[in-house]
Amino acid sequence: MKNGFFATGAGIHLLPVLGRRVSVLGSTGSIGTATLDVIRFAREHYGPNAFPLQALTAQKNVGLLASQAREMRPEVVVIADSSLKQALADALAGSGIEVLAGNEAVIEAAQRPSEMVVSAIVGAAGLAPTLAAAKRGAIVALANKECVVAAGEVFRQAAADSRGVLIPVDSEHSAAFQLLDFAQTQAIEKITLTASGGPFRTWPAERMAAVTPEQAVRHPNWSMGAKISVDSATLMNKGLELIEAHVLFGLSPQKLDVIVHAQSVIHCLVSYADGSVLAHLSAPDMKTPIAHALGWPHRIGSPARTLNLAELGQMTFEDPDYDRFPCLRIARTCLHAGGDAPTILNAANEVAVESFLNRRIGFLGIAQIVEQTLEAFERLSNGQAPATLEDVLELDSAARAKAREFTGQAAGRAA
Ligand code: NAD
Ligand code: MG
Repeated sequence: MKNGFFATGAGIHLLPVLGRRVSVLGSTGSIGTATLDVIRFAREHYGPNAFPLQALTAQKNVGLLASQAREMRPEVVVIADSSLKQALADALAGSGIEVLAGNEAVIEAAQRPSEMVVSAIVGAAGLAPTLAAAKRGAIVALANKECVVAAGEVFRQAAADSRGVLIPVDSEHSAAFQLLDFAQTQAIEKITLTASGGPFRTWPAERMAAVTPEQAVRHPNWSMGAKISVDSATLMNKGLELIEAHVLFGLSPQKLDVIVHAQSVIHCLVSYADGSVLAHLSAPDMKTPIAHALGWPHRIGSPARTLNLAELGQMTFEDPDYDRFPCLRIARTCLHAGGDAPTILNAANEVAVESFLNRRIGFLGIAQIVEQTLEAFERLSNGQAPATLEDVLELDSAARAKAREFTGQAAGRAA
């Protein structure tokens, strides 16, 4: 039953959040499509005007972007690969939707007036547009962890200057955001992020040497893009998430921890001074943290799976194995080192993961390339955290070049 702008079931308190104009950067990816699922659900349940869209952007997938645009009616769509502009324009002919192309246009889309920007581009490619959104004070629903790992200080400064808000979408950080008592930060003893352990949680190190990209992207609990799936298999993902938590919540590295919980039902635990440990539970479905971000500070309905504890039966916990998963150890070292180490870590990891997916290096080569790159920079850098976007991009590309050198050497040895 409809009553004016939204369905009556929405309740008056939801009207301001349902009226939010939203831009989705990376709408064709795993997080992007899940975001549109949540928006579609909101339009079906609360009324067709829920979450009007400003912009949708993608890298190459013209077909999916055009069909999303025809259904969801954004004002503008952007394809980052400019050679595909005409194809996108043809696919949207007669729709009245503006078509832009190129990396600069993705940034422009983030700058257009929307209350909220969902940052769901993968990797450091998401950095400039996400920063543009943060700088103009938009609410940023942040899935792209690489950008805050690479440019933590820059984001901290942008958020402070613009008084914008970053709402985490990464499930562990969304959970932490919901559990943290920001009025009593002195009473927070520890944030513990849970890790599923990935597809090789129980594998001996020798067996991991022969892991193929197909095996690495087959995650037991989550269906995700290729890059984050490989990061989950090496546990680099959890290392990046420790750094992400440090940037987002300002807690010292000593107060950040990881526990392996294979069922991915508890996403984060927050320990308080009085001995209380608060946990956040949900089915492993990204539509829950996405809906939390879209609706914040209220709660909206979502098409996420519901949690059935009786069906689950039991939950298990174990410490991570830093020997079999050296990426987690390396990332932890970077968390403690601070300065420019996280930027180098992220860039080297992006290069190494891409090389692994292209079968140029083996699975165990990922940690080796990242470690070699960090070692090469220990002698070269001043250790300061890059303070501007330009500084981050310069260090990011220097680290990528170094990592590519090591990747070339490793590929040469293997040939
Ligand atoms: P994905 O590979 O499925 O999608 C990536 C999106 O970014 C696509 O829309 C693609 O078109 C776009 N894109 C890629 N390269 C681009 C470029 N150079 N310029 C502009 N656009 C580009 O990735 P995903 O799994 O959806 O992950 C997105 C981000 O969210 C990552 O940073 C990831 O770490 C984070 N994240 C994902 C999940 C998950 O469940 N998938 C969970 C937590 C966090
Ligand atoms: Mg996560």
